[in-house]
Amino acid sequence: MKIKLVHDVCGREVLVPQILDNEGHCPWDGKPFTRDYTANLVEALQASEIAGTALEGALERVAGFEPSFVIEATTVLGPIQEQLSRLGAARKAAGA
Ligand SMILES: [Zn+2]
Repeated sequence: MKIKLVHDVCGREVLVPQILDNEGHCPWDGKPFTRDYTANLVEALQASEIAGTALEGALERVAGFEPSFVIEATTVLGPIQEQLSRLGAARKAAGA
């Protein structure tokens, strides 16, 4: 899974490898994504991508069984969508 971020400062899209290549800085404007230790951000992003890829693989295995069922997409996507919305809302509330 390739996770894409949108940088608040410039509004442009950035992929995780680009953040790695630029040591935690935006490839477009050179500003750091975090004031904290950049490696922690990169590690968290990589962990998210790995987890996403694992989920994709697991779902593919499920789909390999006799198709007498369909996975209810909202039960997979819903919690992730809710989590992302919640995190975004929490960040806005914190004034970040
Ligand atoms: Zn930027």
